[in-house]
Amino acid sequence: MSRTDTEPAVPGEGEAPAAVQTKAYLGGVSETLLHTALNKTFGYSSFRPHQREIVEHILAGRDVLAIMPTGGGKSLCYQLPARMAAGTAVVISPLISLMKDQVDSARENNMAAAYLNSSLTGAQASQVYRKLQDGSLDLLYISPERFAMDSFIASLKAARISFFAVDEAHCLSEWGHDFRPDYMSLSAIRRHFPRAPIAAFTATATNAVQQDILAKLTLRNPFQVRASFNRPNLFYEVRPKREVDAQLLAFIREHKDEPGIIYRTTRTAVEKTAAFLSAKGVKSLPYHAGLPQQEREANQEAFSNDEAQVVVATIAFGMGIDKSNVRFVLHADLPKNLEGYYQETGRAGRDSDPSLCVLFYGGGDIPKLRHFLDQIQDAEDKALAVQRLNQMADFASRNLCRRRQILAYFEEEYPEPNCGSCDICTGKAETSDATREAQMALSALVRTGERFGAAHVVDVLVGADTQKVRDLGHDKIKTYGAGKHKDKGYWRSLIGEMLGRGLLGLDDGPYPVLKLTAACLPVLQGKEKFEILELGKGGKAGKPDASDAAGKDRARAGSGAEDIDQELFARLRGLRKTLAQRQNVPPYMIFSDRTLHDMCRNKPVTLSALREISGVGDAKRDRYGIEFVQEIRAHGEKA
Ligand code: ADP
Ligand code: ZN
Repeated sequence: MSRTDTEPAVPGEGEAPAAVQTKAYLGGVSETLLHTALNKTFGYSSFRPHQREIVEHILAGRDVLAIMPTGGGKSLCYQLPARMAAGTAVVISPLISLMKDQVDSARENNMAAAYLNSSLTGAQASQVYRKLQDGSLDLLYISPERFAMDSFIASLKAARISFFAVDEAHCLSEWGHDFRPDYMSLSAIRRHFPRAPIAAFTATATNAVQQDILAKLTLRNPFQVRASFNRPNLFYEVRPKREVDAQLLAFIREHKDEPGIIYRTTRTAVEKTAAFLSAKGVKSLPYHAGLPQQEREANQEAFSNDEAQVVVATIAFGMGIDKSNVRFVLHADLPKNLEGYYQETGRAGRDSDPSLCVLFYGGGDIPKLRHFLDQIQDAEDKALAVQRLNQMADFASRNLCRRRQILAYFEEEYPEPNCGSCDICTGKAETSDATREAQMALSALVRTGERFGAAHVVDVLVGADTQKVRDLGHDKIKTYGAGKHKDKGYWRSLIGEMLGRGLLGLDDGPYPVLKLTAACLPVLQGKEKFEILELGKGGKAGKPDASDAAGKDRARAGSGAEDIDQELFARLRGLRKTLAQRQNVPPYMIFSDRTLHDMCRNKPVTLSALREISGVGDAKRDRYGIEFVQEIRAHGEKA
């Protein structure tokens, strides 16, 4: 469900914003003109949802606030009008690395783009200023702190500015997770440039953040877009967590050559997993906030350039990763909340090719995270964090479409009964009745007086012969050994599950003591069943049966490359890497995986046939066309 404001442009109070003048002709643009520009510049034949309206409104001189998920195609929403408008579009972007990537990628499509930030030498900066003054830039990327500099404002005023675009606009809001004090100075834009339209973009959806952006940028009657947060090309799956490093390795071996991210909760776990994978021959690098900045940057770059297959990271690895061909995101530990999970998995498949998101889940993660949350001082904050963690556990353990659950978190209802692209909808996960086991656990808890943590309760259930059990006489109680038919791991995760679903609570004291809650009574009395999911039962990851109901938007699961000529794909990928090194840009910037896949399907052997491939615009045809066509021909002759 998307709420889209489609009112006609009515200027609000204050000075009326002026329609942007286009290079082609003045006063509005036709749809054909837009499509032609889209196709020539980017090589795409159609707009993604909302892109066209946003571009049109910017060109008509209206402010815009666009909330679109990662991979929704936000850059194009301002790059295309920047290309079409007379004058320079000024883009405010929070990170130097992000700016550089954006400029490189715009230049790959022959746009005149440059950035101004602290990484430039004086001479380089002067050159950019000169280009700004002589009107030869389509796009100028800048960091927000420039707006606090009078000399910079003066230069902008002396130049011809088409519009302003604020990227990652949630950085303006203290409610957002990436608040940047520097962004506060952006309220100066409206003051100094009352007639220039401002377009703000973010992937953060909360209402509080949205209101903050509107207010801080003083947007006037903006065209507002809230795109669906559904990512149709992502396959969501939860697998039982056992020997997680070995499970990760097995997964990676099934996905040879595919770039992916592995998230872990702690820095120690990151180091351990990265070392383990490296020792097994997987090119993997660690990333966390404890590493020196240089090393972090180097590791991110190696990943971008397809030199390392895998990054093992904490959540510090996030904003600024533009790599479009991330084919999987694995969570080796339970994330703290669904919002984080969505943002992290969202880094997969920006090129909209099918990608996998697998969460390895064991109930054992819950007590660990709870222990961590118990250290939060503020009672309200803590309650909220616990509630979010429980939601996360619900996501992993409920027999309900994963996609539906994620979207529900963003108050969006998923319209299809079967998404065809998660383990639940494809029948990979089965439920089993664990009512009897849950009752045993509850009873063991009651009989030991609700005074112990999970470890001891599990010992009692499996009938362990420990000093503590003997000292307390717990080997004499009725439930002692009643759960022998299952192992300790089973009971630990069952208890985690019961905690996550609120059947059990944890005491606030120094040691986590398990308590019964009111919610457990129906299960204890046999009035309600307690079902658990048995994960990973069905076939191979990400390969739904052909028979399941297909939604319109369903992802082609797996790597999506099954129907293509793998040998040709490998050749083209090799060529892409060579060219990337020559141009000094990451490979995905030359052509996305999706574009290479298209080439493998259609095998264009002429430049004009190549130009028909999605993602091949005029500039890239001219720059790389011959080499790709030759490679495809050579492959054809060999076959
Ligand atoms: P966001 O910033 O919203 O996360 P990007 O701007 O990075 O998304 O775009 C994600 C990917 O989608 C990029 O590889 C981009 O080239 C591609 N893309 C954007 N718009 C289109 C389109 N209309 N058709 C096909 N691909 C598109
Ligand atoms: Zn589903």
